Amino acid sequence: MNISRNFFLFLSENKLLNHAAKKWGLRLGASKVVAGTTIESAMKTIAGLNEAGLACTVDRLGEFVTDKQEALEAGQYCINTLHAIHEWKVDCHLSLKLTQLGLDIDKNLCMNNMRSIVQTANQYDIYVNIDMEDYSRYQTTLDILFALRKEFDNVGTVIQSYLYRANEDIDHLQGVPLRLVKGAYKESADVAMQEKADIDKNFLHLIKKHLSHGSYTAIATHDHEIIEQVKAFVHENQIAYHSFEFQMLYGFRHDLQQQLANEGYRVCSYVPFGNDWYGYFMRRLAERPQNIKLAVKSMLSN
Ligand code: FAD
Repeated sequence: MNISRNFFLFLSENKLLNHAAKKWGLRLGASKVVAGTTIESAMKTIAGLNEAGLACTVDRLGEFVTDKQEALEAGQYCINTLHAIHEWKVDCHLSLKLTQLGLDIDKNLCMNNMRSIVQTANQYDIYVNIDMEDYSRYQTTLDILFALRKEFDNVGTVIQSYLYRANEDIDHLQGVPLRLVKGAYKESADVAMQEKADIDKNFLHLIKKHLSHGSYTAIATHDHEIIEQVKAFVHENQIAYHSFEFQMLYGFRHDLQQQLANEGYRVCSYVPFGNDWYGYFMRRLAERPQNIKLAVKSMLSN
C-alpha cells in the first residue's frame, strides 16, 4: 500500500473534517463525482443516465453516524429517496451504509431502520444494496443481511475480494444478489490481502464462482482487464446477460460504461448525492492518484 493511499484513507476517517465538509457544499472537485446535494438533483442525473442506457443505484451519502436522531432521519431520507425513484419512474435501486442508519449506536435501531426501508422498497419492487464498510462492521452487516432476507428477497450486499474469508462467505451467500468489489478500506494483513495481484486474482475467482452458482452478480470495478476477463468467461460459459451487471461509479470511466451498455451488457452507475460527501471523496482520491490532480485543479480554480 503506498503513502498517498494511506494518507487519503486516513483523511477519509477524520471526523472533524468530515463534519466541517458538510457545511462547505461540494468542493475539491467533488461535484464531478457526486450528483448534487438534493434528491431532485440526483433524480435528474439518474434520468439522464437512464436515457443513455445506463441503469443506476443511488446512495444518499452518509456514514459513521453516532446520534440516534440523525440515524432515524437518515432512515426517513432513504424512504423519501425510494418514493422519488418510484415517482420519477427511473431504472434505479438504492445503496446504503449501515453506519448511516445507526449500526454504531444500537444494532436493533439499525435493524428497525433497515426493515422499514426494505419493506417500502419491496412495495415498489426496488432492490436495496447494503454497501460493505470496514472489517470491524463486516460480521454484523452479514448478520443483519441474513435477518432481513428471512423476510424479504429484495436485499443483498457486497463482498470484498481483499478479505481472506470472502471465498468461504460467498458459499453461504448462494442465491443472494451480490456486488463484488476489490475493497476500499485500509485493513490489517491479519484479515485482508495486501498485494494487488492477490486481490485481483481472488476478485476474478469470486466473480466466476458466484456467476457459476447462478446467483445475480454485480461486478463493480473500473478495471478494464478484469472486465475483459469477465466478458470472456460469460461467453465461454454461456451465462445469460440478465444474470449479471457491471457497476461503476458516477463520474468515472463514463466512456467505458457507455461502451459496455452499447455492447448490450447491463451497466449500473453508482450515483452518490448529499452533503456528506467527504469520506466517499477521500476514498476515491486514495484509490487513484490521477483523481488527486482533479481535486488540486479544482482547488486552484476556486
Ligand atoms: P483499481 O484496482 O483501482 O484499478 C485497476 C486498474 O483499472 C488501474 O490500474 C487502471 O488501469 C484502471 N482504472 C481504474 N480506475 C480508472 C479510472 N478512473 N480511469 C481509467 N482507468 C482506471 N468498496 C467497498 O469496500 N465497499 C463497497 O460497498 C463498495 N462499493 C462499490 C461500488 C461500486 C459501483 C464500485 C465501482 C466500487 C465500490 N467499492 C466498494 C470500491 C472498490 O472496493 C474499489 O476500491 C474500487 O472500485 C477501486 O478498484 P477497481 O476495481 O475499480 O480498480
